[in-house]
Amino acid sequence: MDKVPIMKPYIGQEEMDAVTQVLQSGWLVQGAKVKEFEERVAEREGVEFCCATTSCTTALQLAMMAEGMNDGMDVIVPSFTFVATANAVVSTGATPIFLDVCRDTYNLDADITEHYIEQNYFLRFGKWISRKSGNQLWGIVPVHQFGLFANMPKLNQIARNYGLKIVEDAACALGAKIEEIRLGGFGNPACISFHPRKSITTGEGGMILTNDEELYCKVVELRNHGSAVGSDVRDKGEGYLLPEVRTAGFNYRMTDLQGAIGCEQIKKLDYILKERKQIAQNYDELLEQKALIQAPFVPKGYYHAFQSYVCMLDLSGSIEQVREKRRQIMYELERDGIVTRQGTHAVHKLDYYKKRYGFEDSDLPVAARCDSLSISLPSFVGLSYETQVKIVEKLRKLIEKR
Ligand SMILES: *Cc1c(COP(=O)(O)O)cnc(C)c1O
Repeated sequence: MDKVPIMKPYIGQEEMDAVTQVLQSGWLVQGAKVKEFEERVAEREGVEFCCATTSCTTALQLAMMAEGMNDGMDVIVPSFTFVATANAVVSTGATPIFLDVCRDTYNLDADITEHYIEQNYFLRFGKWISRKSGNQLWGIVPVHQFGLFANMPKLNQIARNYGLKIVEDAACALGAKIEEIRLGGFGNPACISFHPRKSITTGEGGMILTNDEELYCKVVELRNHGSAVGSDVRDKGEGYLLPEVRTAGFNYRMTDLQGAIGCEQIKKLDYILKERKQIAQNYDELLEQKALIQAPFVPKGYYHAFQSYVCMLDLSGSIEQVREKRRQIMYELERDGIVTRQGTHAVHKLDYYKKRYGFEDSDLPVAARCDSLSISLPSFVGLSYETQVKIVEKLRKLIEKR
């Protein structure tokens, strides 16, 4: 069997031609192609505004800053997420408050979130203040892990009840839905990623999706050094003057080379989503006949974008023992040419966060369990059914040995 990667970007001649055209045009930085890409994503997702950036991490930073996240504030994030979610919070000076995830969806547990706020914060002059640190609670950064929406109806309700903000880490969730509500549809800015591990790619890249014009203007300014390109200047035809700077911003602009790739990739999104859904259904069926593995759960009314197909191994033993068993299973699969990965990590277990905030691994038991038992199986356009059968057979044999 040929080596089966965990993921393969779906790139064709269209992307190559698009890049060549940009190179020939001589305009390489953010320009018409990035604008077109933003408009295409906005149309696809049914949102008013899109702001392309260099990555989802920088998209999160801009959205968080624009929403007033700052020094001396607490921000609730799920522990079981890619570290970039927490790093973005830390970069604003705020403190991430890691909470546990649901066993079945791997997403932030809304009941735990509400309970935690009730127990740990009190109301003073309209703000929720931490009993421990005196920090103001800014809000919540839910993650739509692996392409499945977090429980947004409930989390939005909590945010409304407590007057909190939300920025959605939707890095993996382009194409996801709850009923017919898509990204940006819950009224919060949603940040997506175009890293090659995600459904569509521009090499590196990210985007903020929002229906809030004021927020959009802020992130656009922050993306470009804080420059306010006032229409007054442009209308007077004085574009040669450098614009006013109203805030200390960044250079988080996407290049037109990436914008051009994105314009082609977004046209393929529906096909890619369809293929990934089929692959997920195949795995579901193949795994159902064989115990020992928990397939991903999709709540009723949710459309899973399946950026990754992540299951839980049903292994017995202590957390260290199952971790070691999983390591051996993944090692043997890789030796047989099948590349798998841990779903993602529990951020409260990572050295920096553990030391800085003094966590024990067991503080968030479900996240710690997912960290040790999750396995992401190969999923990409072109993965054949026969290969999927072989992957599941091998995986099953390896689990039974343990
Ligand atoms: C991939 C990912 C990110 C980071 O995306 P980049 O574009 O690589 O910065 C953030 N959060 C989650 C949940 C991710 O999966």
